[in-house]
Amino acid sequence: MTTVHEPAVTTAADALSVWPASAVEPRDGELTVGGVPLAEVADRFGTPVYVIDEDEVRERCRTYRHAFPDAEVLYAAKAFLCRAMVHWMAEEGLGLDVCSAGELELAVTTGFPPERIVLHGNAKSPRDLDTALRLGVGRIVIDSPSEIARLAAAVGPDGHQKVMVRVVPGISAGGHEKIRTGTEDQKFGLSIPDGYAQHAIARILDQPQLELTGLHCHLGSQITSVKPYLAAVRRMVGLMARLHEQHGLVLRELDLGGGHGIAYRPGEPALDLTALARKVRAELTEACTAAGLTVPRLIIEPGRAIAGPAGIALYHVLSVKRTGAHTYVAVDGGMSDNPRPALYGVRYAPRLVGRRSTAAPAPVTVVGRHCEAGDIVAADAELPDDIRPGDLLAVPAAGAYHLSMASGYNLVGRPPVVAVDDGRARLLIRRESLEDIRSRDVGL
Ligand SMILES: *Cc1c(COP(=O)(O)O)cnc(C)c1O
Repeated sequence: MTTVHEPAVTTAADALSVWPASAVEPRDGELTVGGVPLAEVADRFGTPVYVIDEDEVRERCRTYRHAFPDAEVLYAAKAFLCRAMVHWMAEEGLGLDVCSAGELELAVTTGFPPERIVLHGNAKSPRDLDTALRLGVGRIVIDSPSEIARLAAAVGPDGHQKVMVRVVPGISAGGHEKIRTGTEDQKFGLSIPDGYAQHAIARILDQPQLELTGLHCHLGSQITSVKPYLAAVRRMVGLMARLHEQHGLVLRELDLGGGHGIAYRPGEPALDLTALARKVRAELTEACTAAGLTVPRLIIEPGRAIAGPAGIALYHVLSVKRTGAHTYVAVDGGMSDNPRPALYGVRYAPRLVGRRSTAAPAPVTVVGRHCEAGDIVAADAELPDDIRPGDLLAVPAAGAYHLSMASGYNLVGRPPVVAVDDGRARLLIRRESLEDIRSRDVGL
């Protein structure tokens, strides 16, 4: 995850650098992941289909546990959640970060220990809070002043709930404006300069049934440098020191959120986890020692960096259109199964699989089948010049924020998810059928 390649280099190893570690090309044009040829997955389950490499997910969890041995690692469920994923996280010793009653219920009904779950949300609904209390969620992260009284009332005078407070650290980081959440002027968290955070904390301390365990912040997503995290540590420890002075408050935990960036295309940088772990630990110890504070237990919440590189989207080419300036390769999916290019202008590096081609690579735009010009799967991609309808395309780094953001646009139906491991493929989530769609439509 830590290597930074020069973009222009395209050796065979580089070309697979954003693929799961198990990806191999046994023959020219054939690509297997988890020991399963991708063409076989497409034949058996149809396309579009999402493939997830179980071993890659587990290995990424272990990398985190190994890099942050003293920290609590919570997987951010919103990146991609299904029951198998919940089960893998439980087995690998991670906790979960959820942001709705739906994610929470799926996890708990799959058998995930509720005390290892943290509930987030800038606007939690009454159902979110009721579900959290009913299922015994470990911690609730307070994100607005009005939540405090609501939560205290719902917990009741004899109840008890651990909470954290989401603070805006006032740091700009992240891959795109829409995924920057650490700056002052956005909807998340409580700010320090205007006193909102301190005021909320004082109100929580007035509620005996709420136990404040620590502060939380999340800078944004797709961050590839360690620096903003170190700035966040200093900002948060500064606030902890003031709270200690004012209230004698000792906070046991510090949650630095997620946002760890991954490479989507060969040559793009990824966040170096080993450096992150080492430098954050050093900064935290130093800042706490200087302020005379006990070093809190660190919590981190990676989502994308665990699920993203483990997933692959497979599509069939439906048409190839050559206009004056562009070649448009249209596939049987698009913005309904991956809205990210339309939302944030993300770029991918799809590959032709299932057939050998000796044609030279040519610049193409891979587009979806939906009724919008912005329905792009991969802009500025390179595919063999003889690309044609019926070909199979595989898009790597498709495990996070694809299916979890999928929509019902054009009633195409959301794709299935297939896990590959040790030469076997098994269905985790089946394809959404027309029958599924019709059965929700109870009018007429
Ligand atoms: C989205 C989110 C994460 C995970 O972000 P990634 O970029 O997927 O690592 C973690 N914590 C919070 C509070 C989030 O909103």
